[in-house]
Amino acid sequence: MKLTIGHLYPDLLNLYGDRGNIQCLMRRCQWRGIEAETIAFELGDKIDFSRLDIVLLGGGSDREQMLVCEKLKEIQPDFKKYVEDGGVVIAICGGYQLLGKYYKTEQGTITGLDLVDLYTEQGEGRLISNIVLKSDLFDMPIVGFENHGGRTCINNCKPLGKVLYGSGNDGQTGYEGVVYKNVIGTYLHGPLLPKNPQLADWLIAHALEKKYGKAVELAPLDDTEEKAANDYVYHRFVKES
Ligand code: GLN
Repeated sequence: MKLTIGHLYPDLLNLYGDRGNIQCLMRRCQWRGIEAETIAFELGDKIDFSRLDIVLLGGGSDREQMLVCEKLKEIQPDFKKYVEDGGVVIAICGGYQLLGKYYKTEQGTITGLDLVDLYTEQGEGRLISNIVLKSDLFDMPIVGFENHGGRTCINNCKPLGKVLYGSGNDGQTGYEGVVYKNVIGTYLHGPLLPKNPQLADWLIAHALEKKYGKAVELAPLDDTEEKAANDYVYHRFVKES
């Protein structure tokens, strides 16, 4: 088996090192004997979505998002088809905002990909915090760090999780992220996947299922350290707050 990961615009959307998330996906495939390759796309590159099994859209500052948004118009129809066909996407922070219709900032409005029914508007101050979620996709909590000025409204979409600590989509609804078909969008940036191997495996399993047309049972890996770290964060921020 083999998976091809498309990393969209790492030269611009790579706030807090999203390459680490790519490395995590690659290694978790390779440790199980699943071949994995990554194709990094720069602005202007032609993207053949039919070759991709997982797409990663990373975080970016407002300025970088503005630069990318012009190009998104060109890839939107193919990207939309990929998503509607069940293609796997992980979109983080600035990339999460770009999944939606728009991101309105004081400097102007960034037009998004309109792949998921959500939109973002800049609010007062930034939401910066450690964050812990309970998602019904996993037993283990999702842990991470958020730093965003935008507040995201996901309309009637399913959130990724309920916020147990931190702010989440808008600091008010008590929810974080979005799940639509095989797309996950989240404000948890930096080492999202190394910290949350359950999420990395969800992406891998869904990509294999889509590609090979049958449910795939992933061989377990030794995540003892990740689980201990997750447990520490949960107890530190949720139980003691
Ligand atoms: N520029 C966006 C915001 O501040 C996203 C930032 C990020 O990717 N951390 O809301």
